[in-house]
Amino acid sequence: MTGEQLPPRETEHYETVEADTVRCLICPRTCEIPAGERGVCGVRENRDGRLYLTTYGRAVSTSIDPIEKKPLFHVAPGADVLSVATKGCNLRCDFCQNYRIAIEYEGVTEHERPPEELAGRIEAGDADGMAYTYTEPTIFMEYALDTMRASPDDALQVFVSNGYMRPETVDTLAPHLDAINIDIKGDREFYRKHTGIPDPEPIFETVERFAERDVHLEVTNLVIPGENDDEASLRDRMEWIADAVGTETPVHVSRFHPDYKLTDVPPTPIETIERATEIAGEAGLEYVYSGNVPGHESESTYCPDCGRLLIEREGFAVRGIDLEDGACPNCSREIPIHGTPRGPSSGRRRVL
Ligand SMILES: [Zn+2]
Repeated sequence: MTGEQLPPRETEHYETVEADTVRCLICPRTCEIPAGERGVCGVRENRDGRLYLTTYGRAVSTSIDPIEKKPLFHVAPGADVLSVATKGCNLRCDFCQNYRIAIEYEGVTEHERPPEELAGRIEAGDADGMAYTYTEPTIFMEYALDTMRASPDDALQVFVSNGYMRPETVDTLAPHLDAINIDIKGDREFYRKHTGIPDPEPIFETVERFAERDVHLEVTNLVIPGENDDEASLRDRMEWIADAVGTETPVHVSRFHPDYKLTDVPPTPIETIERATEIAGEAGLEYVYSGNVPGHESESTYCPDCGRLLIEREGFAVRGIDLEDGACPNCSREIPIHGTPRGPSSGRRRVL
């Protein structure tokens, strides 16, 4: 901890159950929290019958990332975003790559970064906007929203989320967000076995609800060998996305690397990722990308109608953008891109 300590912020998203016990209303867990205790997320605390966000203004990670790293491939390609995360998460994924900050708080240092300081960085031109990411931003929503309100109007505001939030939370966030990437991790059984939630239905509802709002949506599916990589479940998932939120929704099929408690499962073979992207295409999805396979041709954007290479990427770097007024220069197909492309970028991360 550095400098003066910011006080925890009381949240307005709770109700009183009885006496000093409250019910948090931010995610579908709706934890009933007795005085002095915290919700499953580990950061929302009942103090004398009022619910506080204990991580308000306390970032465990701040870096400037290419927006491609989120991943968001159809949002101002080549833009840089200031990524912020706090401790905590409302899921308990046994394969979490950020478990040190999300679940275990292992060797984690919090830095005081008030919303005005983050917004000031954007104002100063250090990045094109903010990304709330690495841990689940839903549970530090008050911090994120205050940062959005303090930021310049034209700053990009993006969430990288597991989608496990209540419909009311979607409605609170949507007017302030440019874009969101939501994980669809697997089917009901996968969620039950690996993430610590009983029912993923609220996640699917979140995906649909954001798609109905004026928020650009991309979906990520981490493919784990033996757990969610069978053809039938991949096909179900991809068909659901195409049907529920449209074939123009960019989808990232991402390669698993062993981490946290799931270390006895091998990394996803590249052929599996290639097969998964094929299945996504067969389901009608028009912008399908591989993730964690740097240098693969499926990192780039091609025109769904004529196949022309439109945005060339390598890892998180944008090598070139070939669009004319947001359309394919060859066949004039409109390509859904939110915000102005920033142009070629290095794809490098910078630590503040
Ligand atoms: Zn074309």
